[in-house]
Amino acid sequence: MGSKNFAVGCDMGATKIISCVVDSDGKVGYECRFPTEAARGTKKVGENLISAIKETLSNCKDKNISGIGIGTPGQINFETGEVLGSAPNIPGWTGVNVKELIASEFDYPCVVDNDVNAAIWGEFLYGAGKGCKDIVGITLGTGIGGAVIVDGKLYRGSKFCGGELGHISLKYDGIPCRCGGIGCFEEYCSSRGIKRMAISKLKSKKRSLLVSMVEGDLKKITSELVTQAYHKGDEIAKAVIRETGRLTGYALSIIINILNPEKIIIGGGIATIGDFLFNAIRDGAKERSLPVPYSQVSIVPAKLGVMAGAIGAGSLILKGAQ
Ligand SMILES: [Zn+2]
Repeated sequence: MGSKNFAVGCDMGATKIISCVVDSDGKVGYECRFPTEAARGTKKVGENLISAIKETLSNCKDKNISGIGIGTPGQINFETGEVLGSAPNIPGWTGVNVKELIASEFDYPCVVDNDVNAAIWGEFLYGAGKGCKDIVGITLGTGIGGAVIVDGKLYRGSKFCGGELGHISLKYDGIPCRCGGIGCFEEYCSSRGIKRMAISKLKSKKRSLLVSMVEGDLKKITSELVTQAYHKGDEIAKAVIRETGRLTGYALSIIINILNPEKIIIGGGIATIGDFLFNAIRDGAKERSLPVPYSQVSIVPAKLGVMAGAIGAGSLILKGAQ
């Protein structure tokens, strides 16, 4: 029984930075939240990240801190800590070296990884993926993120861009995506996809609770309102969620056929809709996957909730950062 090791874990989101101290059993001690303030520029975002870490460290002076782990949007060079690309929610973040930023303020070892990689690492160690070796994680929210763990290791790819499942092209002549591609999974099943689908269904059939919720102004529809309308029994909202689930299953069938994972873990705000969505996802995956790999995969909700990213980021320091 040695003294326990601890690490600081930070999860950088589009609106907030969650920072915490995590131990080698995945338990969270002190935690705090700072605004990201992405619209105020990357200098401010960096200052907020540093403030969050300072506050966390000042609240755990009695603990043996091994390092700082950070999960951030974008494709991240895991070796250097540089943001390589695709972080549309933090404008200007591409090109920033997060590791150097941390090294300029703190005298601790630091690892930086993609935010979804960090979250799925947390789920793998302590959440829905505990005990598995081959898992895939996706987050359904403002965007769609993905991460892959093969044989107990995060699969980052040859140049750290692996696991970008949100940009699987589902439709070759579909909706243009922010990434420059066409018909990406993210354009159909993220919160903006749900909004778009709801508006399109309402144009042909206007009897829906959603119309009164936005007083007839369809532009005001959000995925949260669709979820609320679904819980109140609205048929259009139900159809939107069913179709979103089915399309998600189609996208997952691609990865099921390629990787034959044990589990697919789904997190993010949209995943909290629950069983109705998950059953539609399973139906879609079953429809398009090969029977044997489909029969061996469980598609399950994430377990660690909003803290997954911060726990996983800290755990990259404590448990295997390779
Ligand atoms: Zn895309």
